[in-house]
Amino acid sequence: MLAPTVGHYTFVRDDGQPLDYIPGQFIQVHFQYADGTATKRSYSLATIHDHALGPGEAVEIAVSYVPGGAATALFEGLDEGGTVDASGPFGRFCLMPGDANRRYLLIATGTGVTPYRAMLPQLETLIRERGIEVVLLFGARTPDELLYGDEFRAFADRQPNFRFVPCYSRELPADPHPDTRRGYVQQFLDEFAPQGETDIAYLCGNPNMVDACFEALKGHGLPVPAIRREKYVSSK
Ligand SMILES: Cc1cc2nc3c(=O)[nH]c(=O)nc-3n(C[C@H](O)[C@H](O)[C@H](O)COP(=O)(O)OP(=O)(O)OC[C@H]3O[C@@H](n4cnc5c(N)ncnc54)[C@H](O)[C@@H]3O)c2cc1C
Repeated sequence: MLAPTVGHYTFVRDDGQPLDYIPGQFIQVHFQYADGTATKRSYSLATIHDHALGPGEAVEIAVSYVPGGAATALFEGLDEGGTVDASGPFGRFCLMPGDANRRYLLIATGTGVTPYRAMLPQLETLIRERGIEVVLLFGARTPDELLYGDEFRAFADRQPNFRFVPCYSRELPADPHPDTRRGYVQQFLDEFAPQGETDIAYLCGNPNMVDACFEALKGHGLPVPAIRREKYVSSK
């Protein structure tokens, strides 16, 4: 468990094929409702992508347990060694090779942070080669819901161009880092003075947060193609 209601799952393909992907992409897990109707849910790939993944390599996802959720029941009932049917990778919520921006604003709530975990090696390369800056604004209710928080803090400590700004809506940690904020991520956008000339933003997770940040960033002058979005909604 990564948090009280979030599980970290590690899979390997059982058909001996590789499952490489571009950081930011997701897989779809296929299953059936109790009445036999087929359905699926999407999960972003969380594996830190520092090399092309070959056969037998770990495919990681973070699953948020939603009360009464169909996929939640599937994952909660999965024993170690269990299998799921999945397809993918899919999606275009990825860093673009042609981007010439000076800064990435990465914004997430909950499991929406997993694409950014996968992107860390790419971001490290971009910081080294293009001198870009990165700000990760990550919204959680409480310290125990800050998924992969220690990893992001350690990365920020190594990379002065990477700022990790956890935003807690309900409860602060006992000894908060100076970059810690109290409130919702969208309340702190102004502090980073987003600008159309310098910034590209990524928004991932809760649909209300994504909409609120999208409007705010447009208000700051970011063109729509510079605001990339992944809303975590159920695909029923
Ligand atoms: C591209 C994409 C990537 C995604 N990546 C991830 C990921 O990495 N990790 C992850 O956990 N989820 C992710 N999601 C969301 C995920 O696909 C499921 O929608 C979510 O896990 C709920 O599925 P469920 O079957 O358990 O609940 P459902 O049976 O779909 O929903 C049960 C009830 O809970 C409500 N509900 C659904 N989701 C939430 C929520 N997040 N919070 C509160 N209430 C909710 C529904 O409206 C419904 O009333 C992603 C979605 C998309 C579209």
